Amino acid sequence: MVGRDFIPPHCPNRHCACYAPTATWRAARDGTFTRPSDGELFQCFRCRRCGRRFSFRTFQADYWLRRRSLFPNLVAWAVEGPGLRQSGRRHGVSADTVARHIARGFRQALICHRELTGGVRPWESFALDGIETFEYSQYFPFHLNLIVGRATHFLWGFTESPLRRKGRMTATQRSRRDALEVAFGCPDRSAVSTGIAALLRLALRPQGNPGARGGLNQAPKSPGAEFIVHTDGHPAYRRPIREFVDEQGRRIRQIVTSGKAPRTPWNPLFAVNAADTLLRHAQANHRRETIAFSKRRQAAIERAGLFLFWRNYIKWRSEREPGSTAAMVAGVADRQLSWRDLFARRRFPRTELLPQPLRDYYCAWIYTPILGPGQRVHRLLHAF
Ligand SMILES: [Zn+2]
Repeated sequence: MVGRDFIPPHCPNRHCACYAPTATWRAARDGTFTRPSDGELFQCFRCRRCGRRFSFRTFQADYWLRRRSLFPNLVAWAVEGPGLRQSGRRHGVSADTVARHIARGFRQALICHRELTGGVRPWESFALDGIETFEYSQYFPFHLNLIVGRATHFLWGFTESPLRRKGRMTATQRSRRDALEVAFGCPDRSAVSTGIAALLRLALRPQGNPGARGGLNQAPKSPGAEFIVHTDGHPAYRRPIREFVDEQGRRIRQIVTSGKAPRTPWNPLFAVNAADTLLRHAQANHRRETIAFSKRRQAAIERAGLFLFWRNYIKWRSEREPGSTAAMVAGVADRQLSWRDLFARRRFPRTELLPQPLRDYYCAWIYTPILGPGQRVHRLLHAF
């Protein structure tokens, strides 16, 4: 029987007082569960507080999946460049199955990133920029806003901001854009500022659950009296940067570099430019003139979340000088992680780990209006 010696760390029922791990809570052993697909036997438990029955499987990252061996492979492939259909053909599943596995991997990666960075104070200066990409068609561009440590290349977080299509257009394209805006609305003019403000809150005001940090609690190097953030001259960055203040009264000094400056390693924005290049290299949906673009912004967010995990924790910081990951240099992890480490246990969502807009991302609540009703969301059986 699998899981006989397993000790559940908390109750999986989000409405139970024991959903938060406590030292005193114990589950009672309560029979077994036989998996119909292969007859495998699992230990079952019952919460002494709320009576919820659950099994060893409830605490596995691949719970409810039928083809479990596929899960880490499909997730790993999400940062190796293929489109969803290419990945599906390679593994003998549909593009929809690939998307669902990516979404599940994303949810685990997001929580893991928040657990590991919770309480870690960044000690370096940052490069911040929005990389332009689109959902559904080129009439629906959006920014993925990235904030990257300039010394470590650690990607501290990302948010998204829908944009209005601009730039050169033919008369036909312009009238098509106008018609689409009448039917589905025009993105909020302040969406970029809002996205940047949210990103700064997430990256520079870490709030975490120290109890969930899994032994990687490294003392942060002491931060300076202010944060230094390098950006290009995008006017929408100014207000959120000026208005930011953390709980200790620290503000941000913005240093602007022209967007036209050569994108060399000597450019102060090099770290975010490099992340942009690597993201487009690793994920087909962001390449220019591609047919692999994301149909939903939500799907792009999920893939970007896997990119973040891979870039920070799995990939060497420099391929020429292997041996340390960006997370190790940033003091967030003490060793290189793998997809296997990420999926070693199921990570449960907790309110304090997922402030907005991360909760919307987690629950797949970012809708693409033109696709209408019926868009996939995460059913919150055990969430929040
Ligand atoms: Zn319970």
